Amino acid sequence: MRIVRLGLALAVAGTLGLGLAACQKPAGDVDTARLLAAASNAEWLSYGKDYSEQRFSPLDQINTETVKDLGLAWYADFDTDRGQEATPLMVDGVLYTTTAWSKVYAFDAKTGEKKWSFDPKVDPAKGFDACCDVVNRGVAIWKGKVYVGTLDGRLIALNAKDGSVAWSVQTTDNSKPYTITGAPRVVKDKVLIGNGGAEYGVRGYITAYDAATGKQVWRFFTVPNPTGAPDGAASDKVLAEKANATWSDGAWKESGGGGTAWDAMAYDPELDLMYFGIGNGNPWNHMKRSGGKGDNLFLSSILALKPDTGEYVWHYQTTPGESWDYTATQHIMLADLKIGGQDRKVLMQAPKNGFFYVLDRATGQLISAEPFAPITWATKVDLKTGRPVEVPGARYETSPATIQPGPLGSHNWHPMAFNPKAGLVYIPAQVAASVYGDQKVYKHRQGAVNVGIDGLLTGLPTEKAQMAAIKATVSGKLVAWDPVAQKARWTVDHPYFWNAGILSTGGGLVFQGAAVGGFTAYDASSGAKLWSFKTQNGVVAPASTYEIDGEQYVALMVGYGGAGATFASALNGDPVRMPGRLMVFKLGGKAVAPEYKIPPMPKLELAGVSSAGDPKAGFAVFQDNCVGCHGGSASGGYLADLTNSQMLRAEADFKSVVIDGALKSRGMVSFAKYMSPKDAEDIRAYLITLARAKQAQDASESTGGR
Ligand code: CA
Repeated sequence: MRIVRLGLALAVAGTLGLGLAACQKPAGDVDTARLLAAASNAEWLSYGKDYSEQRFSPLDQINTETVKDLGLAWYADFDTDRGQEATPLMVDGVLYTTTAWSKVYAFDAKTGEKKWSFDPKVDPAKGFDACCDVVNRGVAIWKGKVYVGTLDGRLIALNAKDGSVAWSVQTTDNSKPYTITGAPRVVKDKVLIGNGGAEYGVRGYITAYDAATGKQVWRFFTVPNPTGAPDGAASDKVLAEKANATWSDGAWKESGGGGTAWDAMAYDPELDLMYFGIGNGNPWNHMKRSGGKGDNLFLSSILALKPDTGEYVWHYQTTPGESWDYTATQHIMLADLKIGGQDRKVLMQAPKNGFFYVLDRATGQLISAEPFAPITWATKVDLKTGRPVEVPGARYETSPATIQPGPLGSHNWHPMAFNPKAGLVYIPAQVAASVYGDQKVYKHRQGAVNVGIDGLLTGLPTEKAQMAAIKATVSGKLVAWDPVAQKARWTVDHPYFWNAGILSTGGGLVFQGAAVGGFTAYDASSGAKLWSFKTQNGVVAPASTYEIDGEQYVALMVGYGGAGATFASALNGDPVRMPGRLMVFKLGGKAVAPEYKIPPMPKLELAGVSSAGDPKAGFAVFQDNCVGCHGGSASGGYLADLTNSQMLRAEADFKSVVIDGALKSRGMVSFAKYMSPKDAEDIRAYLITLARAKQAQDASESTGGR
């Protein structure tokens, strides 16, 4: 329809004697009117497609009948093998996306021809502050500008035409471990951006900037000021009235408390309300953070604010006094549903804690909440009080407890999608428990991971049978959830976890990529697998879709990474990390992307290698400092496999990296602040022991073993 209208407009312009150039639209010309119509159009104008963030496109050329003919139309390769989490946006024939390290790219959406790219040149050492890989989830586009939040806390406006910088502001204090990985949103000429860093210790906030100039309009702090003083911010009144009294004495006064808003936002133009998802506390352990007392507002909450002023309207806290890294930063989706015979304007969220929440989005009133995945920390949500009914012992007050879900959550950042015809929300869910134990001696370490929990990030065994036993407890699920009945209509079980976000289409299809590689289309009503494509590389990002010149395209960022990758790599069977790639599909597409070349890894020679360090002490230091990026048993995660590192061969080499920062330019900063040279040597001793055990295991497998 749009195409026909545009053709007509050109014809009219021609008869009026206007040249083609005169009626060519400026690049990235998105405004309120266009975004209000975005749900029904053939483009992808905003992170979640439109303000409701439903990630549903009405396009139906690719459908349950035709999807068998879906093939690659074009692809583009990127210069980084870190995680790719962006949703590509398509405006007026141009596809805009981002890669790891906050780089921005614009392509001709039909041909794949690169129009421009922008590298904000983030200092690689900043990678140390990123809990969950150096990812970026995409841009916002508004009135000729493309907005990106960078890992080092800048918000940059680029001219959509050529990628040149229009303005840039520093939104965070870079002496603290703040990061930005989320996509900005633009509402009423204001760019909205949050930040991350709650594992390390920061105080979360959301800021609105003038879209034209970059001037700050308002800021809202999500947790109280530890000094008790007002900030001169939009949050002052509500923090004094509702939040301050919900915090008690504890480590939050030193750490900042957390509560970062690093991902979810949505907007209701009729109610003129902006919704934000708020993250976990710092440290995670409520006993250490706030003496085990108080709800700690607004951690793990959904906040409704006025977009013009940042004025508080309502909140709903999913996990009062959170103690498990149960963020409520997960995807927030708005829809109009008939519930109990009444038309309800609802907000839906499936946060980490495993409950699917349906709220009245005008008031924040809880309508219903049911578990969408197996959970052991609570039995239900009390609909009268809106609070979870917790299982005794789940707070690990007196002894360590194995809790489902663990800190990766029953659902992480990977976006859901809605199908309004089927009335279903498709959730990329997962099952991964964890052990939580109260850390006996807790001391805040400035800039380092501070969670206050022991037992959480234990090493993975090298022994095959033990690994198989752990693998059996971890899985992924694609759940088609009926939000009115609050139950699953169908479920696809994945034997691996940390799978990709979802795209839902009018063609009756649900698209999802896999952590172990692959991109699949399912029947939206039954979950039947209809089509799949070998991506040769793990996928975590959600796809988007658009139409140009009568052809429908599906765009997907391919590239493995993110928080879960540190453990998923080992548990999913070590998928190889490859450089990021954008893959765009259409019916009858015949393009062929070259196979990735896997660089040969020389086997580490350990004969004659020894260390005077203490492997047991090294294990403990490794757990405290290294496991978040290098993964369980140092097996890689989204970084190199340390058990195959040539650095293990000599004490001086290992020290040069860990203590002296020789690989700082690759993000491996000096740990001299956090450990002594003796600690580093103990780690080397532990890694040598681990490497020997792994090599023995591999040798036993290749000779048939036992
Ligand atoms: Ca977290």
